Amino acid sequence: MAAGRIVILGAGVSGLTTALLLSQDPSKEITVVAKHMPGDYDIEYCSPWAGASFFPVGKPNTAHAEWERASWSVLKQLAEEHPEAGICFQPTLVFSREKDANSATGRWFAELVQKDPWYKELVDNFEDIPTEKLGPGIKNGSRFTSVCINTAVYLPWLLGQCCKNGVVFKRDTFKHVAEAGYAHHSGEKADAVVNCTGLSSKTLGGVQDDTLYPIRGQVVVVRNDPLAMYSVSGCDDGEDEVAYMMARAAGGGTILGGSYQKNNWDPLPDSNLAVRIMTRAIELCPTLVKKGQGVEGLDIIRHGVGLRPFRDDGPRVEKERVNGLSVVHNYGHAGFGYQASYGCAAKTVTLVNDVLQEKAKGKL
Ligand code: FAD
Repeated sequence: MAAGRIVILGAGVSGLTTALLLSQDPSKEITVVAKHMPGDYDIEYCSPWAGASFFPVGKPNTAHAEWERASWSVLKQLAEEHPEAGICFQPTLVFSREKDANSATGRWFAELVQKDPWYKELVDNFEDIPTEKLGPGIKNGSRFTSVCINTAVYLPWLLGQCCKNGVVFKRDTFKHVAEAGYAHHSGEKADAVVNCTGLSSKTLGGVQDDTLYPIRGQVVVVRNDPLAMYSVSGCDDGEDEVAYMMARAAGGGTILGGSYQKNNWDPLPDSNLAVRIMTRAIELCPTLVKKGQGVEGLDIIRHGVGLRPFRDDGPRVEKERVNGLSVVHNYGHAGFGYQASYGCAAKTVTLVNDVLQEKAKGKL
């Protein structure tokens, strides 16, 4: 623990979770500055579009898996003790198809749909579904209890918890990460800037990370309730499409997904893709609509598109000096920004404390 002035750039799930953990130390004076805040819906702001579920995808014995493990214990506790955070438990079914073994979506969900996954000891009620109960083309399937996060409730809840801890929020847009060093609410230069700008780290001056690119996710939000979450490793409509659904807490509706379109920046929903998403959802869970109904039985709240910030080498959680300023990065969480949020934020806090201690010793 070390005192200091910190600016966090970005108010998505990564910036807000980092602000929350840092603000647990009252000796830190924290400003969060962002172009977009909870309540906004924009193609440059990924967090509101997420399902969001805890569907672990990190490979065992990696930092990624440890970030998910660390996040699960907090998300579970929030679901148990803080209903106002907008997180609920949901029965969950996941299925693996033989034919998706080498597809983009099959690789994405490779760990989630393992017959004997590392996370089975973590979540409650894990069980392998007997082969005779699986549908045609399904290699294996399992059920367990996971959580679903209503992002429209959870992001404002995070912001509120930060405000309670004295964090100051400001709106601004920067061309260069070093500009954020002068945005602290005290008017003094910050001791450290935490970069949580997601996909915008591709173009932000001083960062310009070429290994970042979007993986486009299109969704349909409906009022129909499947009473569970579902995910399949792929579908027959194309290698970059999948079938999943997540029933959100506290009246948040159900997210039907989706797509996994690499390097596709299109912010507008594609109506043909929307029909395929809805058709697949009903095939996966026929009770989503009344008996005999098809897509017309779905009561649509909205169509949406979000761009997952994918990075070739996984999330960047590390520190560096930029123009004489200490910058700690926490970006590039692709499709797992919520389920890895507390693990990544905890690592970021450690790095910020390292910076502040080096500064206190006069090494910076
Ligand atoms: P963002 O939410 O994009 O926030 C970036 C912040 O930086 C914003 O406040 C923005 O305004 C600010 N910013 C950027 N540039 C600047 C600048 N120059 N100046 C000032 N401010 C700036 N994850 C899960 O864990 N589980 C799921 O089930 C899940 N489902 C998903 C489904 C879909 C359809 C999509 C699209 C994503 C899903 N994700 C899921 C992934 C998750 O949403 C992302 O990993 C996460 O939202 C990334 O958050 P972030 O805070 O890093 O970035």
